[in-house]
Amino acid sequence: MSRELSVAHCPGCGNVFQKNLRNLCSGCSAAEDAVLNALEQTLRRSRHLTNEQLSEATSIDVSRIRSLIRRGKLKLYDYPNLADACDLCESPVRQGKLCTKCMSRLKGDIAKDLEQKGQKKEHVFLSKFRR
Ligand SMILES: [Zn+2]
Ligand SMILES: [Zn+2]
Repeated sequence: MSRELSVAHCPGCGNVFQKNLRNLCSGCSAAEDAVLNALEQTLRRSRHLTNEQLSEATSIDVSRIRSLIRRGKLKLYDYPNLADACDLCESPVRQGKLCTKCMSRLKGDIAKDLEQKGQKKEHVFLSKFRR
């Protein structure tokens, strides 16, 4: 009996590869390491670069840099001007997927929603007593 290998399409290049922890084929893993190395070397020299400046200095795509930040490969705490972007409005985010503005707007919406539901419940509750 042959043991079945679990394979997947690599999200980086689309080639079929044997599944691993990084979820990338070996070619793309190596390429990603090289990209990360290049970024970190540049940042070591000038840690105050923004995403755009870093992209210019390394000729690595801004979206690629962002994806590395989003996946936690590139850590932000040493680099004060690097940032991920908000999922909703694209403004810079240092933590999580939403900026503080969108976050508080969302929280406001949820609070309002809950309040409305609460009022409805109260209404039903009171109408029972009126009967
Ligand atoms: Zn690949
Ligand atoms: Zn936002």
